[in-house]
Amino acid sequence: MNFARVIVDVASQNTDRPFDYKIPEKFQGVVQPGIRVIVPFGPRKIMGYVVGLTDESSFSKVKNISDCLDVTPALTEELLQLGKWLSHQTLSYYISCLQVMLPQIMKAKYRKEIWKMTDEPLDSELEQVFDGRAVMEYEEFEKSNVSIHQLRKHIQDGEVDVHYEVKSRETKKVTRVIEPGVDEFTLIETLEDLSKQAVKQRRIVEYFTEHKEPIPKKQLLETLSTTSASLKPLIDRGVLKEFQQEIFRDPYENHHFERTKPFALTEEQAAAIEPILNTIQKRSHDVFLLHGVTGSGKTEVYLQSIQQVLNEGKEAIMLVPEIALTPQMVERFKGRFGSKVAVLHSALSAGEKYDEWRKIQRKEVQVVVGARSAIFAPFTKLGLIIIDEEHETSYKQEDRTRYHARDVAIERAKNHQCPVVLGSATPALETYARAIKGNYQLLSLKKRMNNAKMPDVELVDMREELHSGNRSMFSLVLKEKLEDRLAKGEQAVLFLNRRGFSTFVMCRDCGHVMECPHCDIALTYHRRQERLKCHYCSYEEAVPQKCPECESETIRYFGTGTQKVEEVLEQLIPDARVLRMDVDTTRRKGAHERILNQFGNKQADILLGTQMIAKGLDFGNVTLVGVLAADSLLNLPDFRAAEKTFQLITQVSGRAGRHEKPGEVIVQTYTPEHYSIELASTYDFEAFFNEEMKLRKAFNYPPYYFLTLFTISHPNQLKVQEVTQKIVQFMKQNLSEQSYVLGPTPSALTRINNRYRYQCMVKYKKEPEQRKLVQRILHYYEEEMKQENGLQITVDFQPYQLM
Ligand code: ADP
Ligand code: ZN
Ligand code: ZN
Repeated sequence: MNFARVIVDVASQNTDRPFDYKIPEKFQGVVQPGIRVIVPFGPRKIMGYVVGLTDESSFSKVKNISDCLDVTPALTEELLQLGKWLSHQTLSYYISCLQVMLPQIMKAKYRKEIWKMTDEPLDSELEQVFDGRAVMEYEEFEKSNVSIHQLRKHIQDGEVDVHYEVKSRETKKVTRVIEPGVDEFTLIETLEDLSKQAVKQRRIVEYFTEHKEPIPKKQLLETLSTTSASLKPLIDRGVLKEFQQEIFRDPYENHHFERTKPFALTEEQAAAIEPILNTIQKRSHDVFLLHGVTGSGKTEVYLQSIQQVLNEGKEAIMLVPEIALTPQMVERFKGRFGSKVAVLHSALSAGEKYDEWRKIQRKEVQVVVGARSAIFAPFTKLGLIIIDEEHETSYKQEDRTRYHARDVAIERAKNHQCPVVLGSATPALETYARAIKGNYQLLSLKKRMNNAKMPDVELVDMREELHSGNRSMFSLVLKEKLEDRLAKGEQAVLFLNRRGFSTFVMCRDCGHVMECPHCDIALTYHRRQERLKCHYCSYEEAVPQKCPECESETIRYFGTGTQKVEEVLEQLIPDARVLRMDVDTTRRKGAHERILNQFGNKQADILLGTQMIAKGLDFGNVTLVGVLAADSLLNLPDFRAAEKTFQLITQVSGRAGRHEKPGEVIVQTYTPEHYSIELASTYDFEAFFNEEMKLRKAFNYPPYYFLTLFTISHPNQLKVQEVTQKIVQFMKQNLSEQSYVLGPTPSALTRINNRYRYQCMVKYKKEPEQRKLVQRILHYYEEEMKQENGLQITVDFQPYQLM
């Protein structure tokens, strides 16, 4: 093959197709689909992905590939195909879809430089940019007002050249290692020939008569307390060999994982796992929904299914929501499968992530446990994909390539003819509806392990508390129960919904709320720094002494951030030892794990936290769970608000009474009569499903209709309205009668960072031409969208964030 078809690293409509490049003699055989190359593109050299090879090109002037970045392909053939599919599904550029599948560190991590190749001054402004130097960063040129044509002219005249430094090559950690260069017999001979004075050399050779494996040089020198000087003559003679070896950073190297054995499955588990195992053996594709209450042993079903996959010589992907990827969770997989497991999550450094990814690529592991992007693990013999807590919205990527890991999983499983298992105690409505219709196979686990009861849930009406004179954020019953657990030496978990919306500063005289001047949303109060911060842009300011509206001094903060709760708790129950876990206390690496360990070791009585503590925690001594403000999610402008509330209460309740001691849950709410709260308190998923489905049907929401959400933003409000109006009209004219096109509507967050945001929502059942229409819209506005701080249009074909 003489030519390579290359997708270049430029995300634009004009470049969203393969370009042909000639493969120079020296790269023949190296260049193959999936490897990354450096190619000339205009006056620059850029990175690109080879997506195919061909014997002839229809273009007349084809340039050479300049360099290869990989020796083994970064992307498999299947992933290259998947990228195509993804780009169609999400209407993103092919290049963005290829990039999204690779570890961050591999993405365009190369530095471009411009080298001056002559001592003579250049006859242009470029000389000024060089400012006496011989080398400068490409970025400096880009920032200057020297045109690309001038640069090209200098390149053609041989006066300057563009060079690139690939940073990702440096990211592999290497070490020098020593191993014997001759056989054991020769080693012994060498030892006999060495003079008695050469004590150190003798010691080294002796060592290798007993050890054949390579050993890091540093370690060898330390072990034998010798120096490089003694090593060198042996290496020069060829008795020993010295070479570079790649070492992997193993984030779990200091952990010892207790090996576990499979449990004998309960009857329910055995019935649930059978169809999965059958499908694995038959090597066919199917989608299962494993609907099991919290603590019903779903994870054991996953583990034994994966075991079957390994027995068949195949590989498995296990997806877990980021926040549930706790050390406890990792331990369960490492404990069962040991070094066959790679772990991918965001707490790892970029280098560590890359190393884990390399283990997959080099086929050193057969199982990957990871968050969303682990769905792109470069396995070639996939036998199973599992998505735990499948209802979690974090499986949806919310920028650039807006993919949902569930869709990608099903597509990959089709490619590999293997099953997908979706697991949850509270499946997404869409998923459960598909299972009931028979599109997915429904498997149920209705009982908790050891027949443990689900903890009793008591709803506390906070309006009544207020009427009876209790103004605290803790109801009397919650306070009493906390004190009771403290006395018994048992533990409690207190759950507060995410920060942000709840903690604001308000004037009690005039009701003025402090808002971000750029985003039209309330600022959040941060006690430690005594500052107000916007959680959508980076704006912050000091807490005012007086109300900016009426000058009253009764300005104070309201609402309940975790810090505030901690404070109140200290006053309410001074003896309690409280651990707080939220975004602020877990920012530092390892903090998450440390807090959980402390709690597990009973160094605290109460664990207070946000979403982070809702999932995956399994502590036997926790017998009380308190939900402080159950309705905070209900008031969000989102048609899934009730569903999210139901899911959250169920998840949090699942943290109590998981082992011998029975658990209890207190849910504080201002709307105890709301069906999502009432039905969550009786764990009645089916009743909730039926109720919610009625509403979804009445208002034409998923799963009855599909949604497409356009979000249009621009600094000028009139402009946004006008563009949105045009889009609405265009869609109305071109879609079928059965579809609804809504808008223009200001988004719930109407202004972020001084940009106004409007939206258009399409509800449809079947619109095969829709993507083409959207493409026409994007094409029409292409020029305007290129301008800095200009128009932005994002299109989400499966929106979860409606704000
Ligand atoms: P889920 O994932 O559904 O929340 P888990 O898999 O965490 O449930 O199971 C709850 C507990 O029961 C865990 O401590 C687990 O080790 C244990 N367990 C699971 N299956 C069995 C079994 N077949 N026999 C005994 N214990 C089991
Ligand atoms: Zn005021
Ligand atoms: Zn802001």
